[in-house]
Amino acid sequence: MIEYKELQHKKVLVLGLAKSGVAAAELLHELGAFVTVNDAKPFDANSEAQSLLSKGITVICGRHPEDLLDEGFELVVKNPGIPYSNPIIADALKRELPVITEMELAYLVSEAPFIGITGSNGKTTTTTLVYEMLEKGKKQPLIAGNIGTVACSVAAEATVDNVIVTELSSFQLMGTRTFKPRIAILTNLYDAHLDYHGSFDNYADAKFSVTRNQDNNDYFIYNADQPIVCSYAAKSNAQKVPFTTKGKTEQGISADDTAIYWRGEYILNRADIALPGKHNLENILCAVGAALLINCPLDAIKEVLATFTGVRHRTQFVREWKGIKVYNDSKATNCLATKSALEAFKQPIVLLAGGLDRGHSFEELRDSMSNVKAVVAFGETGLRFIDFAKSCGIEQTIAATNVEDATVYAAKLSVAGDVMLLSPACASWDQYDSFEIRGDLFIDSVLKLV
Ligand code: ADP
Repeated sequence: MIEYKELQHKKVLVLGLAKSGVAAAELLHELGAFVTVNDAKPFDANSEAQSLLSKGITVICGRHPEDLLDEGFELVVKNPGIPYSNPIIADALKRELPVITEMELAYLVSEAPFIGITGSNGKTTTTTLVYEMLEKGKKQPLIAGNIGTVACSVAAEATVDNVIVTELSSFQLMGTRTFKPRIAILTNLYDAHLDYHGSFDNYADAKFSVTRNQDNNDYFIYNADQPIVCSYAAKSNAQKVPFTTKGKTEQGISADDTAIYWRGEYILNRADIALPGKHNLENILCAVGAALLINCPLDAIKEVLATFTGVRHRTQFVREWKGIKVYNDSKATNCLATKSALEAFKQPIVLLAGGLDRGHSFEELRDSMSNVKAVVAFGETGLRFIDFAKSCGIEQTIAATNVEDATVYAAKLSVAGDVMLLSPACASWDQYDSFEIRGDLFIDSVLKLV
């Protein structure tokens, strides 16, 4: 850990506990700051606050006092999920106090360089691929952020020999000020989280901040197939590494129908990639680009691509059974994600879909439904999804009550050569606490059938 003295004897407020708040409070305490944590959960039921108190950290729990900032804090560290409209954050900004997330802290103390991965879709898949490649190539990567351990805890342990691979949400990025990854990746930009950011421009600005502090010693890998991303990339001071799936290019990393090229040189055949889907090809280009920039051996990269069949719940290959290939894409909680999954397969698809009804239309899927031969729908949107499937000309449809009986029906409709795909196009919260639980129940049901 870098000997970081700037926070010594400074009064710092940590707003919101959970894993990241606890780690931030402990690190700040270790750096010599005077730390106060404020969390909504009452003290008696708040084991995290109790443990911090025992270490000498001030805790205020069960309420958010309106005059909290009158105590003269010099810095606020907020949980990424807390919106800027929160009264304490709004007050902090009015007082011109710096408000950061723990990712910024991680950067301040880290001896290791960062690879920061952001985008509307594909973050987790790309992050996992980069990590696996660097691990196979013996580059001592550490994974931090959304997946894995809290970034500031990982950064505190990292040495110059490591490289920290981290997935960055727009919420995390908005709380960075000096964060400067050696390699920044922007997979793509679509309308998302506008409820939090207010407008697409604000959201895009937050995503683009991944490269904001980069200079000529750093690299920015970005989606050259999206004009909006290119217009932002033009402002980056990093060395630019565009990626495209639209054919071989001399710059950056590119793919045509048969192969992947690095700065115009052939590097591998697409036939040797296990992960399906054009959307995943984008993620793969990002990951290969980053791994090559870290001097990861090509053999290690190829080995990972030959065996990696997807992150759990993201077009994840479950197994083959009676010639039917089963995939779990429970993370597809919106139409765009389901569209990517449907377009990933050439075989006839038996689709399991449906879930929380946000009143959203399924029209976005229409052009991608041509390979779907049957639909089993469940959850709040089940019947609506069936009406939509019928309007696409799909004759075989079944309404199920939940993902488990949907699996049984879907298995009956599938024959050898088909793909059986859970890709709900809806969030899970009408029936399940998380998309992970929904996906796990699907996998269990498939394994029971087998
Ligand atoms: P994130 O972490 O950004 O949510 P994931 O890697 O977890 O992304 O993938 C979530 C879903 O988004 C996947 O199930 C897939 O259907 C879709 N997806 C993944 N990568 C891309 C991409 N590059 N472009 C469009 N959609 C994608």
